[in-house]
Amino acid sequence: MSGKIYWILSDHLHETHLKDFNPSCDVVFMCEFNEDLIPVKHHKKKLVLVISGMRHFARTLIDKKYTVHYVRLDDPDHSHSIELELKKVLQKHPDHQLHVGMPSYYGLKETLKDLQLPISIVDNPQFLSTPDEFSSWSENYKVLRMEYFYRKMRVKYGILMDDQHPVGGKWNYDAENRKPPNEGLDSPPPLQINKDDITLEVIQLVNDKFKDHFGDADDFHYAVTRDDAIRVLKHFIQQSLPLFGDYQDAMIKDNVWMYHSHISFYLNCGLLSPIECIETAEEAFEKDHAPIAAVEGFIRQVLGWREFIRGIYWLKMPEYEHLNALNANHSLPQFYWDANTKMNCIKDAVETTHKNAYAHHIQRLMITGNYALLTGIAPKAINEWYWIVYADAYHWVELPNVIGMATFSDGGVLASKPYAASGSYINKMSNYCKSCHYDIKLKHGEKACPFNYLYWSFIQKNQALLEGNPRMKFVFNQLKKLKNLPEILESAETFIKTNHPK
Ligand code: FAD
Ligand code: SF4
Repeated sequence: MSGKIYWILSDHLHETHLKDFNPSCDVVFMCEFNEDLIPVKHHKKKLVLVISGMRHFARTLIDKKYTVHYVRLDDPDHSHSIELELKKVLQKHPDHQLHVGMPSYYGLKETLKDLQLPISIVDNPQFLSTPDEFSSWSENYKVLRMEYFYRKMRVKYGILMDDQHPVGGKWNYDAENRKPPNEGLDSPPPLQINKDDITLEVIQLVNDKFKDHFGDADDFHYAVTRDDAIRVLKHFIQQSLPLFGDYQDAMIKDNVWMYHSHISFYLNCGLLSPIECIETAEEAFEKDHAPIAAVEGFIRQVLGWREFIRGIYWLKMPEYEHLNALNANHSLPQFYWDANTKMNCIKDAVETTHKNAYAHHIQRLMITGNYALLTGIAPKAINEWYWIVYADAYHWVELPNVIGMATFSDGGVLASKPYAASGSYINKMSNYCKSCHYDIKLKHGEKACPFNYLYWSFIQKNQALLEGNPRMKFVFNQLKKLKNLPEILESAETFIKTNHPK
């Protein structure tokens, strides 16, 4: 009997991929492939999340009487070849057509093209815009900015709209957000999900098979089913959304969770859909549970940034991956792996990354990203690090965030200026500096905060490239007036020589 084979990839764990499924003749195919799961040596917690997520998803489908053909990583008959496993499933169902949602990794999409098998690749319903839609939109602009794409998406989905106008009269309420953390600020603990037998078995598998991967798997407490992911979303809406905007950029030592949502793990592998996250937040505003600034700020991340980032990825790949506008060529320091540094801010960001496979946006952007930008770590090395270390890391989202947002390696495709900052930004937005070995007030010398001299050395080194940028005018005026520039540059040079031998 003819029918379809629906191939569900490891980050397609959502039933919308099966919306036309015909139970009388169609089949689901799921396979734990290295190419799909492990293009780089992912953090152990990410592997647990995704493999356990796949096994739970398959079980849910089987309970609903879907026919599922599932191949486990440790299955003795697993050929570990995409081509062979696809051929096997096609041999079992010779009259069936193979369907797969658009892979999120450019490399995997290219591999599928090369296989010369009858596979039809369809749109991925886990996003609210398609690459074609983004590409058409981009043709209207000389420079691509998230804000304009976000407005288009608000109108398209009628989110926070009052007829044709944004609710409250403004598209963006950021001016009311982003407060520094005040003394004693605490935040609600994240919802911890208990491990069941499937997850315990996967932890064992990951510990055995991927011993040399970064991080540890044992204290795993993330959701691996859709029901639990929905509980995490509701926990965020109830407990943290009202203060999400206020403390979106704040950092507190040993408190990685803050008022963030911790839903990227689930959005990116399919356990949550973006529209349900957006609509649940909008409903919280309508019910007066959370203020407009917090709700709009959160919705902008999901409907604006997430979709924009994906649009850039598919618009600019494959060239995008190789951009290096600032000629950055330094090595990645060992302390990105072992946190063995006296810089309190980096130590905390790397430690939490190792422990949780998570750091919040400002730690990623303004601590590890900023450091990579200021010291000129080669894009290839810093990209690989980000792709490895986070449980929400997938190439489509990691790459533009690193190449475009954090390191300005794309020369301004994604951001209008580099997100470069000295220690004073970190001091304002965190409590790291109070207990740091380095002195935030000093601009150069052994005890000075490295971010202070590295910042000015970065600005001076990239003057020719950045001076014409109107948003950098103020900085270059400051550079002209800067006292002790030679000493500052000397401190930067010594630091880079010590920490980044080529
Ligand atoms: P919240 O702060 O609660 O935000 C809500 C949601 O908005 C997120 O879950 C996410 O889906 C979306 N979002 C917010 N900002 C972005 C953004 N810049 N790009 C895409 N989506 C966004 N996000 C990933 O999902 N995977 C990555 O591999 C990744 N790598 C990053 C690397 C760097 C250098 C930087 C600066 C950012 C990166 N981000 C990445 C974006 C962002 O930091 C994470 O989405 C966020 O920290 C996830 O935590 P959260 O769910 O608590 O997010
Ligand atoms: Fe980081 Fe500098 Fe502050 Fe230390 S003093 S925590 S290195 S910003």
